[in-house]
Amino acid sequence: MKAIGVTKDGDGPELLDVPKPEPKAGEALVRTVRVGVDGTDHEVIEGSHGGFPEGEEYLILGHEAVGVVEEANDTGLEEGQVVVPTVRRPPNGEENGYFERGEADMAPPEETVERGIDRAHGFMSEYFVSEERFLVPIPEELAPRGFLIEPISITEKALELAYTSRSSFHWEPESALVLGNGSLGLLTVAMLVEEMDVYCLGRRDRPDPTINLIEQLDATYVDSRETPVEDVPDVHEAVDLVYEGTGYAKHAISSVHALAPNGVAALLGIPGPWEFEIDAGTFHKECVMYNKAIVGSVNSGPRHFEAAVERLQELPEDALDSLVTRVVDYEEFEPAFENHNEIIKTAVSFE
Ligand code: NAP
Ligand code: BGC
Ligand code: ZN
Repeated sequence: MKAIGVTKDGDGPELLDVPKPEPKAGEALVRTVRVGVDGTDHEVIEGSHGGFPEGEEYLILGHEAVGVVEEANDTGLEEGQVVVPTVRRPPNGEENGYFERGEADMAPPEETVERGIDRAHGFMSEYFVSEERFLVPIPEELAPRGFLIEPISITEKALELAYTSRSSFHWEPESALVLGNGSLGLLTVAMLVEEMDVYCLGRRDRPDPTINLIEQLDATYVDSRETPVEDVPDVHEAVDLVYEGTGYAKHAISSVHALAPNGVAALLGIPGPWEFEIDAGTFHKECVMYNKAIVGSVNSGPRHFEAAVERLQELPEDALDSLVTRVVDYEEFEPAFENHNEIIKTAVSFE
């Protein structure tokens, strides 16, 4: 079958001929419908995140997938059922407590592999196999946009961790600052605008499709070149919630200075090493005296996928249409991996 992947001696994604996977006992064979692309895929392609499966010369890309069960085998799934796979799998097929408890998203990187990202083949192929416990059934009508369920689930988990950290007292967030106008940041803006005033920080000039989408969602664009994160309280307002989706390491520190008392910052970005000076005393004291919290959040579990299925049905269709700028056929996949300002979210179609 055909797959889109990277090879150890290659230069970017290519169309590969790979063996069609054979489902083992307890696994379904899934025919892929669409697979989304995000910033993490670009990090995997450039080699700054993830890695190849042990002993293999290539990695099939893709972790944001939707497909249709082709062969249910001995699973409880039905042929024709539309499903979305979760990303993490036990390393070397060996269970550990995180997987046994259904909390793979809380496993440290050593105790998991990630399909399409880290040491396990992804879903960007005509077919893939998966155990039933890692397949989330979704309504058939969501299939065309089902590749958005995984990224929405990422934010469902981050918000759950952030809200839970503020659950011991009265906390009703009224404002949020989303850092980053990539696909993850913009999906998060769409999710938050129903509940609070939302600011979204980028570093782009107008006209720009991401700024248009921010304003289409009734959120406020903040240009980080004019208003750095720590100035947001003076220029706009101190916010109850920060959601960092830039991968820009200074934002992990400056987020705290944008928060209102008792606020929380959720960090999602995955930067490389970067040393810089900070006023650690002020940072530390601010966290303590204002009861501020920082939570890191990675990956997502089945309950976040289920919440994401509900959420996808509630998000405004016109915003989703603006978000998904390109869906391309797998045989001409290259435009899905272009990286410029006209592109927000892309997907590869296998239909
Ligand atoms: P993306 O498309 O690369 O988006 C990042 C955005 O942040 C870009 O639009 C970029 O602007 C903007 N940005 C970067 N530095 C900035 C700065 N200093 N000031 C203002 N804007 C800045 O990536 P994504 O898919 O949305 O994902 C966002 C991050 O989350 C990535 O680091 C990704 O690896 C990570 N991620 C984490 C998880 C998790 O489970 N924790 C899940 C998914 C993604 P320009 O485009 O103008 O350069
Ligand atoms: C994926 C997550 C994954 C994370 C770290 C994200 O893009 O959506 O499932 O855990 O990258 O590799
Ligand atoms: Zn992702």
